[in-house]
Amino acid sequence: MAGHILESDEKDHRSVLASIDKEGRRKNLIVAIVPGFWRRCRVAVALVLIAFYMAAPLIHVGGMPMVRIDIPNRHYIFMGHIFWPQDFFYFLLLFLTGIIATVALVSLLGRVFCGWICPHNVFLEIIYRPIERFFEGPAHRHRLRNQRRELTTSERARRVGKWIAYALVSGALANTATALFVGTDAFLYGLIIDPISHPAAATFFAFAFVIIHGNFVWFREQTCTIICPYGRLQSALLDSESLIVGYDPRRGEPRGKATVATNGDCIDCNLCVDVCPTGIDIRNGTQMECIQCSACIDACDSVMRKLERPINLISYTSENALQGLRHRFLRPRTLLYGFVLLLLVSLTSVAIAQRPLFQLSRMRDAPPLSSITTSDGQTLVTMVVNVAIINKTPHDALASYTLPDNSQAEVVSFGPQLALPANARSLHTFRILVPAEALRDRGYETTIRLEIPNWGRPLLIPVRLPQRRPASESPI
Ligand code: SF4
Ligand code: SF4
Repeated sequence: MAGHILESDEKDHRSVLASIDKEGRRKNLIVAIVPGFWRRCRVAVALVLIAFYMAAPLIHVGGMPMVRIDIPNRHYIFMGHIFWPQDFFYFLLLFLTGIIATVALVSLLGRVFCGWICPHNVFLEIIYRPIERFFEGPAHRHRLRNQRRELTTSERARRVGKWIAYALVSGALANTATALFVGTDAFLYGLIIDPISHPAAATFFAFAFVIIHGNFVWFREQTCTIICPYGRLQSALLDSESLIVGYDPRRGEPRGKATVATNGDCIDCNLCVDVCPTGIDIRNGTQMECIQCSACIDACDSVMRKLERPINLISYTSENALQGLRHRFLRPRTLLYGFVLLLLVSLTSVAIAQRPLFQLSRMRDAPPLSSITTSDGQTLVTMVVNVAIINKTPHDALASYTLPDNSQAEVVSFGPQLALPANARSLHTFRILVPAEALRDRGYETTIRLEIPNWGRPLLIPVRLPQRRPASESPI
């Protein structure tokens, strides 16, 4: 990928992060905002995404929250489906699908997720950064003010306003995050109305606020450049035909004053660096820190328009295209990923649609056999069977239980039907009674059948009572 990298800068930009100075201290990036076609598109996409992110805990699908992470009850709700730890297999399928989708997306569109969809960049660039710009003014004035250090009264007031606005947005985001974990009702009563009685919700809110506020106000681009493993993964998946944001050195170099006829189109105004949220200079070539936000494209296009030169000195392109080679959007690699992705999506959809909504598991602690003698002198051997049933639906259900028609055994429980509360795991006990003589040869096997109305598949509990001889026949 080094086709258009400038030799003189290679060492510096590959070995030093743009947001860290030579002594290893953090450089506070004050990023300029330049309007343009791509900025307008990003704002439009971001507004839809922000509305979705903020409304997600309030949206209900099939009577359940669209998304809910219920840690105390150990389940996760997604698009009307409740997933329990027992559903780990489906998570595995979803995880695999997500990985292949990422690989396919990156090979086709590069790091489009980072710049356009990732909540970190959506909120940072479309909410926090404009707040900063509103209170602090254009980036160059903000930088000068920071160098000056002494602030006038009105500048102090504006800075306080900025911090209050930041805190309000961080509070709203922490609110949404809390609701995702505790639910909107619990959030309302637990946090707003009576936080003392609901310390879990209040603690989670405080924790989420500190993380969110710290990330968007202080940590910022370091989340992408230092922490996020997804960024590293995506960088490794790019090839010479993947979509990237790139600078055309054949057209731009040698950079310099527009009045010098032998210079290229780049006038070295540095605006593309000024607007970069990770502080890099895209003219040094594709870099791991580039999140493909397109801000530098808008910045450079605005300069080119003023100079009445063609736009797209920086553009969405590929390494091949920058070197004048043929660029193929669809190629064997992307087609293969697409095929595998289609396969996995189909498989996962079918598996989730077929997922059992009532799940039964046998408990191990069944006591040993015992026997009773009825009033008419018949000896019945009894065995206790314990089971746990998970009802993964949002509705309470009643299950009836029976044995096969020709069975010599009888089954009883604590009532004629089993109550299966919605979205919960319940324990049930059955007592099987079998005439002692039925166990004499090979023991006795039968199956308890549980029928749940509106659920086509019965739950079956195989039961085996071991052979049992009268004491007089026992081997000595
Ligand atoms: S904005 Fe364009 S003209 Fe200005 S330095 Fe960047 S590439 Fe060169
Ligand atoms: S180089 Fe351009 S596209 Fe990449 S992060 Fe910086 S501004 Fe965004």
